[in-house]
Amino acid sequence: VLYNQVQDLKGAIRVYCRVRPFLPGKTSGESTVDYIGENGDMMIVNPLKQGKDVRRIFSFNKVFETSVTQEQIYADTQPLVRSVLDGFNVCIFAYGQTGSGKTYTMSGPDLTTEESWGVNYRALRDLFHISKQRADAIKYEVFIQMIEIYNEQVRDLLVSDGSSRRYPSCNIRNNSQLNGLNVPDAFLVPVTCTQDVLDLMKIGQRNRAVGATALNERSSRSHSVLTIHVRGRELVSSSILRGCLHLVDLAGSERVDKSEAVGERLKEAQHINRSLSALGDVISALAQKSPHIPYRNSKLTQVLQDSLGGHAKTLMFVHINPEVNAIGETISTLKFAERVA
Ligand code: ADP
Ligand code: MG
Repeated sequence: VLYNQVQDLKGAIRVYCRVRPFLPGKTSGESTVDYIGENGDMMIVNPLKQGKDVRRIFSFNKVFETSVTQEQIYADTQPLVRSVLDGFNVCIFAYGQTGSGKTYTMSGPDLTTEESWGVNYRALRDLFHISKQRADAIKYEVFIQMIEIYNEQVRDLLVSDGSSRRYPSCNIRNNSQLNGLNVPDAFLVPVTCTQDVLDLMKIGQRNRAVGATALNERSSRSHSVLTIHVRGRELVSSSILRGCLHLVDLAGSERVDKSEAVGERLKEAQHINRSLSALGDVISALAQKSPHIPYRNSKLTQVLQDSLGGHAKTLMFVHINPEVNAIGETISTLKFAERVA
């Protein structure tokens, strides 16, 4: 095992906080992030509070300030990604309110320039790269699956034939034989290079837009799960190892005002709230080494069951929008993150 430096992270849950910069054209104003320490501390200023309650410190494994590049973000993610080639299951989540930078971290703003690639593409590029380096000892195959969870329904995003099978609903099966692939009905597509991946992502993104008024609308109200499945055969012993990497761009965590949301919007909001709290409950139960882990409370935690806990590794990126008018959501995001850390 080459990446045994991450062995000690087995079962561990890490939380990284990333602060989004002010967007161009927005009058920058005051930032609610007052201070970021080297040791993973950050100080938040809450203008809605008074006196000594105005400032509050939160602590995580790392806090990335606004100027941190996609490359630097990946550098701190890479050991977990690479451990998949040694047979580990890994989950990486992006959490935060809509507009806080989840998709920026996971996918990146612009796929045409590699510099802007997010964790998804960098992870795949890296896995291809390392598997080539190890080709003398282990023959690796890489597969991807891409699903969406919307209103507690799981859908395959890689269906491309445009027929009635397009966008089907899938079942979840929890069975350790599946090695973390708990949605066996969804397409599992072999990939050998980053171009294969980019082509598949386009299909996934197009499917995601189906039935939505706008892509952004839909993507902020559903969870997307990109699963990278790796199968390696050791050439000498012929033994097989399997690892799974789940890259999850979560639905926006913002609380919807119950007095305003009605109909479809209210239903979506309730599903999102319930599944994000179920995720928080599972991760904090794991962090506290509780004997009962409540996986059954949401589709999201059922899909990821074999990759959360046990020998699996978890990384949660929490995203902060530093604008003053986002302070309410910022505080609830940081409290969520504190609970799972
Ligand atoms: P979310 O997926 O959480 O809704 P996005 O990733 O779409 O948020 O980000 C919202 C906007 O902010 C986008 O225009 C995005 O390009 C920009 N943005 C997010 N994070 C960063 C960052 N770290 N640096 C520069 N721009 C960012
Ligand atoms: Mg998004």
